[in-house]
Amino acid sequence: MREGVLIIGAGGVGRVVVHKAVQNIDTFKKITLASRTLSRCEQLQKEVDGKIDIAQVDADNVNELVELIKKVEPFMVLNIALPYQDLTIMEACLRTGVHYLDTANYEHPDTAKFEYKLQWAYDEKYKQKGIMGLLGSGFDPGVTNVFCAYLQKHYFDEIHYIDILDCNAGDHGYPFATNFNPEINLREVSAKGRYWEDGEWKETEPLAIKMVWDYPQIGKKDSYLMYHEEMESLVKHIKGLKRIRFFMTFGESYLTHMRCLENVGMLRIDEIEVDGCKVVPLHVLKALLPDPSTLGERTKGKTNIGVVAEGLKDGKKRKVYIYNVCDHQEAFKETGAQAVSYTTGVPAMIGAKLMVKNIWMREGVWNMEQFDPDHFMEELNTQGLPWKIKELDI
Ligand code: NDP
Repeated sequence: MREGVLIIGAGGVGRVVVHKAVQNIDTFKKITLASRTLSRCEQLQKEVDGKIDIAQVDADNVNELVELIKKVEPFMVLNIALPYQDLTIMEACLRTGVHYLDTANYEHPDTAKFEYKLQWAYDEKYKQKGIMGLLGSGFDPGVTNVFCAYLQKHYFDEIHYIDILDCNAGDHGYPFATNFNPEINLREVSAKGRYWEDGEWKETEPLAIKMVWDYPQIGKKDSYLMYHEEMESLVKHIKGLKRIRFFMTFGESYLTHMRCLENVGMLRIDEIEVDGCKVVPLHVLKALLPDPSTLGERTKGKTNIGVVAEGLKDGKKRKVYIYNVCDHQEAFKETGAQAVSYTTGVPAMIGAKLMVKNIWMREGVWNMEQFDPDHFMEELNTQGLPWKIKELDI
C-alpha cells in the first residue's frame, strides 16, 4: 500500500517541512527525504532522531525519480527542490500515479520568467491518472491564495481590489545576503514589475512603483510593486476582481547592492567565458553569498505577509486586512531555519496533511484558492503561523 510522503529537497524550506512533518507523524506515518546532496539529508535525519528515511536523487532526471518513487511507494511527493525541477517531478508523479505538491511555479533555468502554463497543462493527464497536483503551497504563493479564498468566502460578495503585502524586517547582520535561494530571489527581484487591472496585465520597470505601508508589529516600510506568481491564478478565481497587485519590502542597502551587482553584470544568467572556463555570473555570485540556510541563527526581527482586500458585502463597501507575523528567532529555535523558510515550509506541510487526510483531494492540477480555505486556516493557527484579521477604513 502507498503510504507516507517523499520530500524532495533538503534546503532551507525542506528542513522546515521535515521538522513539521515529524511533528505530525501521526498523519504522515512514513517520511522519506531525498535530495541532491545526501549529507544534508543525513544531517536532518540526525536532528529528528532517525525518524525519517533518506535517499540521494537527481530531480532533473525523470527516470531516477521514477525509480525512487517506485522504491519508496509514497502516497505523495512534496517538491521542495527548486522551481527548475517542477516539470520533471510532476512527470515522474504522473508516470507512477502518485500525488504531487510544490511551493513555487516552474521556471526554466535559462529564462527568468515563470508561469503556470506548463504545469496547468498536466491537469487533464492527472485527471486521467486519478491523481492530484497542488501548486504553490508555500506562503506566497500559498497562504496568500488561501487568505483571498477565505475573504471571498466569509467577508465579501465581491472583491474588487487586492494588494498582497510581503514584508521581511529580518536583519542578518551581513551587508548583503538573500533569505532564500539567491538565484531564484535575485532573478525575481530584478525582473520587470507587473500587475493586473481591468482585465489586462500592466508592466512596469523593475521596482518602479513604491508605497509605504505600516506593517503591524513592524512599522512603516518602503514596499515595491513586483510581479508574483499567485496573481496569475487569483485573477481567474476571485469573483469581480478589478485589480490585483503585489508589494514586497526592500531596504535601501539591499537595493543599492542589487543595482550595483546588476550594473556590473553579476545578475546575468547567460554563460560567459573567463580564463577558458564557462561560467554563469549569477552562479558565481550565489557561490560567494552566504548560504541562506546559515542565516537562521543570525537573523533577528519579524516577517509580516498579508492581503488587503476591498469590495462589497451586502451592498456596502468594505476593506479587510488579513496577515501573519512570524518571528525569525522563534522559527529558528523550533526548526533551525529563519522565518522565510519557516513561512514556506509550514504551509507545504499543511497542504500535504490536508491531502493525506483526504480533506483537499480532487483529481487534476489545482491552485490553493480552489479549495475550501477553512481547514487550512485552522491548521495555520495550530502549526505555528497564526493569523489576524482587521477591518480598515475605506
Ligand atoms: P534551497 O536552495 O535552500 O534548497 C533547495 C534544495 O533542493 C537543496 O537541498 C538542493 O540540493 C535541492 N536540489 C536542487 N536541485 C536539485 C536536483 N536537481 N535534484 C535534487 N535536489 C535538488 O532553496 P529553498 O529551500 O530556499 O527553497 C525551496 C523552494 O521553495 C524553491 O522552489 C523556492 O522557490 C520555494 N520558495 C517558495 C516560497 C513561497 O512562499 N511559496 C518562498 C521561498 C521559497 P543541494 O543541497 O545539493 O543544493
